[in-house]
Amino acid sequence: MIILKGVSKKYAAVCALDKVDLKIPDGSIYGIIGKSGAGKSTLLRIMSLLEEPDSGEVWYGNERVDILKGRGLLLHRRRMGMIFQNFNLFSSRDVTGNITYPLEIAGFHKKQINDRVEELLDIVQISDKRKARLRELSGGQKQRVAIARALAANPEVLFCDEATSALDPQTTRSILGLIRDLHRKLGITVVLITHQMEVIKEVCEELAVLDEGRIVEQGMVEAVFVRPQTLAAKELVHVRQL
Ligand code: ADP
Repeated sequence: MIILKGVSKKYAAVCALDKVDLKIPDGSIYGIIGKSGAGKSTLLRIMSLLEEPDSGEVWYGNERVDILKGRGLLLHRRRMGMIFQNFNLFSSRDVTGNITYPLEIAGFHKKQINDRVEELLDIVQISDKRKARLRELSGGQKQRVAIARALAANPEVLFCDEATSALDPQTTRSILGLIRDLHRKLGITVVLITHQMEVIKEVCEELAVLDEGRIVEQGMVEAVFVRPQTLAAKELVHVRQL
């Protein structure tokens, strides 16, 4: 369980997060939705320990993690994988080189790395692209490489930061289908942030609606979708379908 207690974050005069409380159950596929500037990326960076909150606490189960430093922080970060809208891949490396990167820095042996890469290529269904350069791949294939890299060290949580926002509707569906399969097969917790309600509807079980740095609504996706309570949720629900 990921737990946020009273998390706040300011950038100069901008209050990006204002006393956010949130509980994300283990093994869930959880959506955080809000329009641009609502504070989603800030929340994700704090949850994934890339940034410290100004106040409040972040817990993973019984362990408080926002105070971790040095090796403890490094080891905890290895329990998480992240994918992004712009893929964040290394253009100087081919597909295999991108996927092996986290395993190399974690100090795995060559044989372990090679075996794991084959497994990962198979999981994300791009085995035929193992030697391809990134410029030869479509957006969807790049995101599959990024997912393989994020999963390389067997994380417990996969954070998806607007992971399908740069993709066309059909590719979005196939990537969301892959995320859903991974969640089911690997039992991994997935936290997905997006401004698109249809993305949440396609894959998530539960969601929280973020507006101006505050969680204004949370619950099961179906319930929020059918009966949004706040203006922020209503605005997000009334958008086009995929
Ligand atoms: P979202 O992901 O929902 O679009 P963000 O978390 O990126 O929202 O941003 C929330 C608010 O915090 C915005 O007003 C944004 O301009 C501000 N903000 C985010 N990161 C920074 C930063 N590193 N420096 C200054 N302001 C920031």
